[in-house]
Amino acid sequence: MDNFFSTNTSQENNSLNSQYDNLKDNYEKIFIEAAESIRREINQFKPDDSVCKKCTVKDCKIEKKDIFSPYPMNCEYRDWQLKTLTFLAGDYKQKLKAAYKSIMDKKNEYTCSRCAACCKLAVSEYSYTQLKQRAMRGDKFASDFVSVFVPYENEEDAKKVNPEYFEMLNELVEDKTYYYYCPKLDGNVCTIYENRPNICREYPHNPLKLLPASCSFNAWKNEVAHQAMLLKAKVDIIEFYKEKLQ
Ligand code: SF4
Ligand code: SF4
Repeated sequence: MDNFFSTNTSQENNSLNSQYDNLKDNYEKIFIEAAESIRREINQFKPDDSVCKKCTVKDCKIEKKDIFSPYPMNCEYRDWQLKTLTFLAGDYKQKLKAAYKSIMDKKNEYTCSRCAACCKLAVSEYSYTQLKQRAMRGDKFASDFVSVFVPYENEEDAKKVNPEYFEMLNELVEDKTYYYYCPKLDGNVCTIYENRPNICREYPHNPLKLLPASCSFNAWKNEVAHQAMLLKAKVDIIEFYKEKLQ
């Protein structure tokens, strides 16, 4: 997982792709680690087997006292399921939010090297029209994005700007990708640098997104990659719990 992202040569870019593949392969292990960690948390308030001895529910055939078993309403294990839902939506969610904040705070230890790669080739899973629609519906990020970036006329123009990054996105991002640039850039210099919008100051916005190889925040991504994927796995698992236990 070291050197998850690297510098800007095509040789290193190949290694970058294989490192990304390794991380994807590791995701299964990370997912299990996340599931076990949640299990440990919720087992702290699991009733012990003795509750069944004094239970008044007739004909209960539940052998395995698993969190997902179909317990009747007046069973103490059903209370456990409900407590689990409350815990995951409350204290545990706060804990994950704090973990996310600590990942994002770590970013402050790194500095933008002003390579301008993110200004020349910004990406979104949404088209310009979709972004504007989202902005009109109140999506702050979409609104900030369209206030800065405009779309490339065609993918070839985008590709010419940063072929390695373009190829990497094409290869590794499953969703359709739309390409944008900032007209405020002159060469490699931001003409409004001191007053640049927050969306620029806060880039990169997500530790799991692919960055251009020249971006100095790849070092941050390397450092938090495991933690970020673990967090993402936990968020996905909580959604699964909610769906199953409600
Ligand atoms: S406003 Fe400046 S920093 Fe932001 S994308 Fe444009 S050129 Fe880059
Ligand atoms: S790609 Fe990274 S290092 Fe380059 S200008 Fe953007 S934030 Fe700074």
